Amino acid sequence: MTYIIAEPCVDLKDASCVDVCPVDCIYEGETMFYINPEECIDCAACEPVCPVAAIFAEDNVPEEWKNFIPLNYNFDYTAPR
Ligand code: SF4
Ligand code: SF4
Repeated sequence: MTYIIAEPCVDLKDASCVDVCPVDCIYEGETMFYINPEECIDCAACEPVCPVAAIFAEDNVPEEWKNFIPLNYNFDYTAPR
């Protein structure tokens, strides 16, 4: 399992989640942040700190935002930044 960032993060990018992630697996993209499913340890620390409730356990992503699951999986985490 992993955690997933969904629609409310788009264009807001508050970054509170980045500060609390113990394994630094939250990456900045052009329009939003993404969680690397290979690195996420499912600790849930990020979920309550997001001011817009954009973060969900993979199993709990609301139906209308399920398309964000592949977006988090397919983001290029190897790109230099
Ligand atoms: S705290 Fe929420 S809005 Fe901010 S970057 Fe993380 S997921 Fe996006
Ligand atoms: S669940 Fe934990 S490890 Fe996964 S992204 Fe959130 S803070 Fe990081």
